[in-house]
Amino acid sequence: VRIIVLGSGSAFSSPKRFNSCYLIKVGRNEILIDCGSDALRAIQKRMVNLLSIQKIFITHFHADHCGGLPAVLTAMHVLNRKRSVDIYVPSPQLEFTKEWFANVFLYNEKMSFKTNVFPIESNILNLSKDISLEFIQTNHLKKYSDCTTKKGINAQSFSIIVREKNKKFYFSSDLNSLDEAVKHLDCSLSFVEAAHLKLEEIRQLMNGSWRDVFLTHVPQELESNGVWRKELHNRFGLKHLNIVQDGQVFEI
Ligand SMILES: [Zn+2]
Ligand SMILES: [Zn+2]
Repeated sequence: VRIIVLGSGSAFSSPKRFNSCYLIKVGRNEILIDCGSDALRAIQKRMVNLLSIQKIFITHFHADHCGGLPAVLTAMHVLNRKRSVDIYVPSPQLEFTKEWFANVFLYNEKMSFKTNVFPIESNILNLSKDISLEFIQTNHLKKYSDCTTKKGINAQSFSIIVREKNKKFYFSSDLNSLDEAVKHLDCSLSFVEAAHLKLEEIRQLMNGSWRDVFLTHVPQELESNGVWRKELHNRFGLKHLNIVQDGQVFEI
């Protein structure tokens, strides 16, 4: 499994860190996990072939995870892509996604390729005998429940585990707390988002005995001159953090 970090930034992206976007190459599959607002820029910068991406998975509907979708699809059309693309979104947002595409004039009849939209549920999607994706619901959006209930919106967010035989890559995406990630850190490689964790939780993660755990979704505060970084050093003596960088490639 090859993981190419296209965007490791938080909601407040920077030229060094684009919004959430990861290219996964597994077997014959090329999939994109998350398509944040500046995903197209990230894709261009890393010279990813827009014609090879087969599936796009959106972990939740914050703009830093889904906002780049119309621009990426439009760019595929401009390149005269022929092969259809499958887009997976949390199931309550399935109809919204179809409406969204219609309102930004992305019609299958007018595009050079077909877009299929599928729901993500808490289950396992088998891509082949040896390759699967597991979707694990998280509590990241619970904080909106007073508003979403009023609007009748079912807000769902997911972590994803990509599996090929005995190799597993865990991507937490946005969480509510570290507890949600801990039971999955036995994977061959884990990316845990840093923007919604407490400093104590970041310390716990970095000092734990799990193998190959990296922080991603990195807020400015955690960059080398950031206030969180200074506090982690002063309070816990934590000098080194495992942080992924845009453009970094991992192989498991
Ligand atoms: Zn986010
Ligand atoms: Zn989020």
